[in-house]
Amino acid sequence: MENKGTKPAIVLFPFPLQGHLNPMFQLANILFRRGFSVTVIHTQFNFPISWNCPDFRFVQITDALSENEASNPDVVELLHDLNSKCADPFADCLRDILSEESGASCVVVDALWYFTADVTAKIGISRIVLRTSNLCSFVPFAEFHVLREKGYLPLQESEAESPVPEFPSLRMKDLPWIETKDPRSLDKLLSSLSKALQSSSGIIFNTIEELEMDSLYQIHKKFPGVPIFCIGPFHRYVSASSSSLLTQDMTCVSWLDKQLPNSTIYVSLGSIASIDESEFLEIAWGLSNSDQPFLWMVRPGSVRGSEWIELLPKGFVESLEGRGKIVRWAPQLEVLGHGATGGFLTHCGWNSTLESICEGVPMICMPSFGDQNVNARYISDVWRIGLHLENKIERKEIEKSIRVLMASSEIRERMRKMKKTAEECLGQGGSSYCTLGNLIPHILSL
Ligand code: UDP
Repeated sequence: MENKGTKPAIVLFPFPLQGHLNPMFQLANILFRRGFSVTVIHTQFNFPISWNCPDFRFVQITDALSENEASNPDVVELLHDLNSKCADPFADCLRDILSEESGASCVVVDALWYFTADVTAKIGISRIVLRTSNLCSFVPFAEFHVLREKGYLPLQESEAESPVPEFPSLRMKDLPWIETKDPRSLDKLLSSLSKALQSSSGIIFNTIEELEMDSLYQIHKKFPGVPIFCIGPFHRYVSASSSSLLTQDMTCVSWLDKQLPNSTIYVSLGSIASIDESEFLEIAWGLSNSDQPFLWMVRPGSVRGSEWIELLPKGFVESLEGRGKIVRWAPQLEVLGHGATGGFLTHCGWNSTLESICEGVPMICMPSFGDQNVNARYISDVWRIGLHLENKIERKEIEKSIRVLMASSEIRERMRKMKKTAEECLGQGGSSYCTLGNLIPHILSL
């Protein structure tokens, strides 16, 4: 594994979606700082063109996705397409890398690349998996077939509020689900993921053990013999350069500079979730009526049936008189870390949730699909660091929740404590610090 007697070499294979690229590049930086030479194998699809990192070597594989496949809104189909199209190019590329003098004895792949289990077994190289979700949403995903057999999924509307016997913190409507043309393809996806995790040499999570001890115990039971490494929050180890797929609008920061401390609501639904016109307008009026300053990231194409914000009523932006700013993509870490940001109306993607925890910003949860509903339940009911918009997206509910969140010293205090936990886990003797200390020799031993 040694690179001419100097650096151990490692190969990383990120999944080309924003919420997966960010943690993998952060992990790459962590490993680089720990002395590894890093090679990143990447697809043509969704590779961050602005990524500028002289420390890593990048090798592109041909994914051969057609234009239709690349813009498929059915995420499950897109995942299967990428897995089937990348298998051979990845295998060839990996063989080439391994035939070089520097070699590598371990690959770190995103869990969504389930095909890599067979390829790495055939080639005879160890595979560690990065799972970019947290533990509490991962457990129900790992038990997906049981939830399906019991008839909990797809959700029966009449059962939406019932508690899940196997997961007492969750209601039926919180269980992870991804809309797709054929639900059997979701079954196939999740069973392939689970199988690939079972045969891995370890699973890395971007989370903090203290937040989810019960789930960690369940994962050890579910994957006996597979070492689990909770070493998050990744983005706090090193300030990596951005792996953003879209250009960040840096005017957010100077706009925030003009707002009062803790006054502003930041709104973002992440990189994949979309909403319809009426939901978009309800959010707009809820924000406007709250009388609170807001910074709203509306990703182009995220409002179904429109390019960007042209569905807003005429004069809406002017009527805000500078109290609201709308951008296409924000420098989210800077925004959450800005002293003016006092609340986060979020879709509850795990990266966004963890970033908010690290900055001590309480949340209003507006989850959409997949793990987001589980995260929202934990934010509102288990960790109690935010509020949950339980029902349909409605302006009065949004306005009310903003007012309640901004006035709640209890939520803010719990968030302050959780932020401290997130800081302490990285310090000497902290859980993530110690686990990273175990991960490095584990990789070197493979
Ligand atoms: N993000 C960003 N700018 C934005 C919105 C999101 O940089 O305007 C980043 C955010 O910091 C996070 C990632 O995109 O790291 C989104 O990941 P998450 O898991 O929260 O949600 P997903 O997009 O996967 O649904």
